[in-house]
Amino acid sequence: MTLPADAVLRAPHLRGARALFTTRAGGIGAAPYDSLNLALHVGDEESAVRRNRDLLRAEMGAPLAAVDQIHSAEVHVLPADGPVPVIPADALVTSRRDVALLIMVADCLPVLLSDAASGVIGAAHAGRRGLLDGVLQRTVESMAALGAVPSRIRASIGPSICGDCYEVPAAMQEESAAVLDGICARTRWGTPALDLRAGAVRALELAGVPASAVAVEAPCTLEDPRFFSYRREGTTGRFAGVIRRA
Ligand SMILES: [Zn+2]
Repeated sequence: MTLPADAVLRAPHLRGARALFTTRAGGIGAAPYDSLNLALHVGDEESAVRRNRDLLRAEMGAPLAAVDQIHSAEVHVLPADGPVPVIPADALVTSRRDVALLIMVADCLPVLLSDAASGVIGAAHAGRRGLLDGVLQRTVESMAALGAVPSRIRASIGPSICGDCYEVPAAMQEESAAVLDGICARTRWGTPALDLRAGAVRALELAGVPASAVAVEAPCTLEDPRFFSYRREGTTGRFAGVIRRA
């Protein structure tokens, strides 16, 4: 069994890496995790999640390195070789060729990054909290520590909740805008909202990655039933952003 074509969206904007986002198609999970749920912590059958991860591992041709995601700004720089421990963090960075970096989301932003010249790649889970706490800036800093040059990095923001849909209380909007300008939005029904994608572009820009190097063409998870959406469904699975050096 391999993943069907509709199980993955390529991120062709990145260079020097194979990068993709999964959908909910092509796995073996039962409702409400149907079918390609990749997260162990959401109540799904562990055997189904393991099988789904095996499918993704085969698709990437390498073991998957994951983190225990905690909505933080912590970055896990992988050891230079050997086994990769799973630690609490929300981003992964490496120049290794023998592993694929895995980030899981269902409305939060999966952000994949690559500097082709240095061979340094990264993957980040950027929800509201992590974004405001600087997870993307810290990811770029960690990539730079391995030899990447921020102005050379390309980034791809995957399927995530859009600014027209992500309603928040007015006070939360205000607090968020004080940290990251450009993040304010309004829902299409006219209430306060956050545009996390615009916030991510701004955060990357603050870290030295040009806005023109960030691709944000991606479906909205709340609107597009091909993806798991926590806001839409509550109890649901997680899809992934995954990247490996070419
Ligand atoms: Zn939307």
